[in-house]
Amino acid sequence: FYQPALTALAENRLRIEQDLRLAIERNQFELHYQPQVELKTGFMVGVEALIRWHHPEQGLLAPDKFIHVAERIGLIKQLGDWVLETACRQAVVWQKMGLPRFQMAVNISPTHFQDPALATTVVRILAETGWKATDLELEVTESVVQTTGDNIDMFNDLRAIGLKIAIDDFGTGYSSLASLKYLPIDCLKIDRLFVTDMLNDPDSSIILGAIVNVAHSLGHEVIAEGVETMDQAVALYGIGCETVQGYLFSRPVTAEKLSGLAQQNFKSVNVDNSKGFTALSVLKSG
Ligand code: C2E
Ligand code: MG
Ligand code: MG
Repeated sequence: FYQPALTALAENRLRIEQDLRLAIERNQFELHYQPQVELKTGFMVGVEALIRWHHPEQGLLAPDKFIHVAERIGLIKQLGDWVLETACRQAVVWQKMGLPRFQMAVNISPTHFQDPALATTVVRILAETGWKATDLELEVTESVVQTTGDNIDMFNDLRAIGLKIAIDDFGTGYSSLASLKYLPIDCLKIDRLFVTDMLNDPDSSIILGAIVNVAHSLGHEVIAEGVETMDQAVALYGIGCETVQGYLFSRPVTAEKLSGLAQQNFKSVNVDNSKGFTALSVLKSG
């Protein structure tokens, strides 16, 4: 049966595909940046670059509206290279402006991560922009976490450049704690769902505490995503999570706004041992 709504959907899908092919050369993408904050000090220790698309008719589009399309139509590598280069270039601009040092985190889609040319591209972009490998972190989701030979080589090749690799959205996909044993990575990013759950469900909190302990024992950093309340920040600090990211500190903002944020201290968690017990209190600084 003919259904006008479905035709409209298909037309819109086709239009998005066509528009996406032109969007890079028409300069319609923009990166927003979200601070990563060290809970103990309130210092911004990193930012994550998050892509946005200024669509000529549909306005500002979030990545969930077009990243999967870019994957499907074979544009994701080109888009990913643009993100890497733009983020590194921006980071160097901030450095030259005298902002405190922090790492730049960039999301890499699974298809892009498996591209043998990725390491060469990263080396070229670092050389062209002047950003240091040690201050770059690539975020990959759990779907690339397979213990097959090829993927492990890719992790090793990239880390040999000096950059760091984080597993994004940890705890939601197929990965298991056991797979961490094989993976040459630097950081685990705990998914927002875990963070949301931890105050409602004691089991979530226990599992999260175990994940943080295992990650630390293996020498990995841990970042919790999607932290929206001070109670969550305090609870995360309590289970040993040192760095967090979320609306509590800042939403992703434009490059211009980020430089203002970088100069201030964020909220921090203060541990007071003076009375023979550990009291967690919250300081607002800056
Ligand atoms: P992600 O890498 O896990 O990024 C975190 C997402 O959570 C971002 O959504 C961010 O805006 C959002 N977020 C941060 N703090 C909070 C919070 O406190 N509460 C809530 N509810 N959300 C929060 P965004 O920017 O829409 O990006 C969604 C996803 O799209 C990203 O998830 C990432 O997987 C993908 N993505 C974004 N930029 C790129 C990119 O340049 N390349 C690729 N391949 N993927 C990207
Ligand atoms: Mg990410
Ligand atoms: Mg994530």
